[in-house]
Amino acid sequence: MNNRKVMVMRELGLTPVWRVRGQEIEGGSHGSAVSDQEDAARNGSIKGNERIEVAQASSAAPASDAERRTIVLKMDWPELKVAVAGCVACPLSGTRTRTVFGVGDERASWLFVGEGPGADEDRQGEPFVGQGGKLLDNMLSAIALQRGKDVYIANIVKCRPPKNRNPEAKEAASCEPYLTRQIQLLKPKLIVALGKVAVQNLLSSAASIVSLRGRLHDYHGTPLIVTYHPAYLLRNPTDKARAWEDLCFARASMATLQSAPGPS
Ligand code: URA
Repeated sequence: MNNRKVMVMRELGLTPVWRVRGQEIEGGSHGSAVSDQEDAARNGSIKGNERIEVAQASSAAPASDAERRTIVLKMDWPELKVAVAGCVACPLSGTRTRTVFGVGDERASWLFVGEGPGADEDRQGEPFVGQGGKLLDNMLSAIALQRGKDVYIANIVKCRPPKNRNPEAKEAASCEPYLTRQIQLLKPKLIVALGKVAVQNLLSSAASIVSLRGRLHDYHGTPLIVTYHPAYLLRNPTDKARAWEDLCFARASMATLQSAPGPS
C-alpha cells in the first residue's frame, strides 16, 4: 500500500490499516474486521481474487468527522469499499456481523436507497435480501428493472441497527459520507428513496411520505422520487397500489430524463 493510502486509512481511524492484495490474508487472526473484509469480497464489493490483509496497526488518533468526510469524498470505488468494510466510526460497528456496502451496477441510472441492513442483510452482506428484498425485486420487475442491471441498491447506514430499530441521527451522520460518495461515483439519473428514513436523510425533511410522493425532488442536482419502504408495504399491503403509482411515475420520469439532452 502506498503511503497516501496508508495515511488515508489511518486518518479514517481504521485500525488496523487494511490493504487489498493479490492472495491470502496474512498476519494471523485479526478479529471481526477481517470477516468484514472477507465479506466485502464475498458479496462482490471487492472483486475477483482481491484479498485483504493487515498492512499495519495504527495507533494514530482517529480523524475528526469533518476530516474523515473530506477523505471519503476523494475515494474511488475500491478505496470506499475497503473503508466501509473496516469502518468503526459509530457504535453500530460493534454489533454488526458484516457491513452492507451496496449492490449493483456501478454505472446504473437507477439508485434505490433504503434505511439500513436487517438481520438477513447483516448475515449476507447484501442489501434487501429478506422478505422486504423479495418485494423490492418484485417492485423492480414491475417496471422492467432487475437488481444489478442498470440498478444500484444502497442504504442510509451500512451496519445493522440492533433489533432493526431506525438508525439514530448520529449513526446516519457518521455513515453519510459513504452514501454521498457512492452517489457521486455512481452519478445516477434518478434516485428512489424508500421510506421515511431514506427521505429524511436524503432530503433533510421531516415531511411525511404521503406529502412528498408524486413529484420530483432534488438531491444535489439529481432528481429524487419518494415512495414507501418495502417493509412498510409488507405491513400495509393496501398501500401497494400507491407504491405502484410511484413506480409508474418513476418510470415515466426516467424516460423523460433519458430523452433529455445530456450535458454539453
Ligand atoms: N431494509 C432496508 O432498508 N435495507 C435493507 O437492506 C434491508 C431492509
